[in-house]
Amino acid sequence: MSFLNTSKIMLKSLFSKPSTGMYPAKKREPFAATRGSIENRISDCIFCGICQKKCPTGAITVTRDAKTWEIDRLKCLACGACVAPCPKKCLDMKNNYAPSVLTKSTDRFVQKSPGTESKPDA
Ligand code: SF4
Ligand code: SF4
Repeated sequence: MSFLNTSKIMLKSLFSKPSTGMYPAKKREPFAATRGSIENRISDCIFCGICQKKCPTGAITVTRDAKTWEIDRLKCLACGACVAPCPKKCLDMKNNYAPSVLTKSTDRFVQKSPGTESKPDA
């Protein structure tokens, strides 16, 4: 490539809009269909364990006796294989990603009593 061609490209780049976004100053909103984090409306969960069996990475742990549902978000591929087979339709895939973490942990949902909402206590 000649010096003239290179100079032309440099000048064009200097005066044109950048192709990349100005992250983190300007964050892009997620698309509506983005596959993001899995949430469980734990009040409706019956702890059948189907989601655990369907998960290809073993990210979900269901404990029927303790009425807990846990997800290891570092193992989750956001494939959605757990959502459709849930008989109570209490699993939902949000369009936001789980926040970055410094240590490994699981999000643990506990059903205090049927019909009661509960947040992860990780
Ligand atoms: S498939 Fe649905 S109802 Fe069954 S354990 Fe998973 S979240 Fe709960
Ligand atoms: S979205 Fe896929 S990888 Fe993530 S918990 Fe569900 S089945 Fe497992």
